[in-house]
Amino acid sequence: MSLNHPDDPGFPADQPRPGVTPPSAGTGGNPIPAPDGMLATTATPTTATAAMATAATAAPTGRIKVATAWLDGCSGCHMSLLDLDERLVDLAQALDIVYSPLVDAKALPERVDIGILEGAISNEDDLRQAQAFRQRCRVLISLGDCAVNGNVPAMRNPFKLEAVLDQAYRETATLQPGIPTQRVPALFRQVRPIHACVPVEVFVPGCPPSADTIFYILSELIAGRTPDPSAVTRFGA
Ligand code: SF4
Repeated sequence: MSLNHPDDPGFPADQPRPGVTPPSAGTGGNPIPAPDGMLATTATPTTATAAMATAATAAPTGRIKVATAWLDGCSGCHMSLLDLDERLVDLAQALDIVYSPLVDAKALPERVDIGILEGAISNEDDLRQAQAFRQRCRVLISLGDCAVNGNVPAMRNPFKLEAVLDQAYRETATLQPGIPTQRVPALFRQVRPIHACVPVEVFVPGCPPSADTIFYILSELIAGRTPDPSAVTRFGA
C-alpha cells in the first residue's frame, strides 16, 4: 500500500517523505522492528542506546531532556503519562521536561534527548511538529496507537476529505455551518502514523499505553538500554 498521496500539500507524489530514508538505503545494526504492516524505519537499537548513554553527560544539568507533544490525538496518552503519579517524582531526578503541553515552556529547545509524540499526523501543523521533534531529539518515541498506526484519527482515511469536512462542519452543524479556512492548519487527505513521515526509534502501542509501560520505557532509556515494548504492550490495550 502506498502512503504517497499526490493531493496532499505536504507530500508531493514524486518526492520522498521528509526525513525518511528509503529501506533500500540500508540501516545497519538491528532495526527496531516497526509493527506488522508498517514501514521500516532507519532507527536502530544502537542508535537509541548510544544516544541515551551519552544523554546524561551531554545535558548541562546532568538530567535527560524530554519533550512531548500531542498531534492528532485525544491527550489520553499524556493522561497516562500523568498516571505515573508519585513515580514522576522519581523520574524527575533523572529527567527534565523541557517542552510539553504539561509544562509552561512554549519553545522546543534546539537539543532534546527524548522526544515523545502522541497522535497521528493529520495536518500541516502535525507534520511541522513531527519534523521539528525529529530534527532536535536524539531518540523519538511514538506513544500510543494513534502515533504508531493512525488508530482513531485514521478512521477517516477511507472517505474523501470533502465528505469528512461536510459531515463535520455542514451536515451536523447546528450553528453557523461552514468549513473553517482561517487560522487553522490544512488537513491532509490521509492521516498517517508518525513513522510514515519521520524516522522513529521506539514504538509504544496501546490506547493509551499504561503508566507502567511508560515508566518501563523511560526507565530503560535512562539506564542506557533499548526498551522492548513488545514485552509489555499490545495494540488497543
Ligand atoms: Fe487517545 Fe488512544 Fe490515540 Fe492515545 S492512542 S491519543 S489514548 S485515542
